[in-house]
Amino acid sequence: MLCPHCRTLMTPPPPGAPDRHACTTCLRVAATGEDAQDIEAREDQRREALALLDEALALQRTRRT
Ligand SMILES: [Zn+2]
Repeated sequence: MLCPHCRTLMTPPPPGAPDRHACTTCLRVAATGEDAQDIEAREDQRREALALLDEALALQRTRRT
């Protein structure tokens, strides 16, 4: 499975692990059969979640001082 973003061959999940192919270059993940749109949508969600986490951590730091 190729990463739709950077054309890197994605690392398949180990046997018994959930169906998650991972791109080692841009960190996108995909399940078997997903198209580029699905993968980009998940990546958008991932980045949004990270941004929220970042904000929450910054807020926590502000409160502590
Ligand atoms: Zn990639």
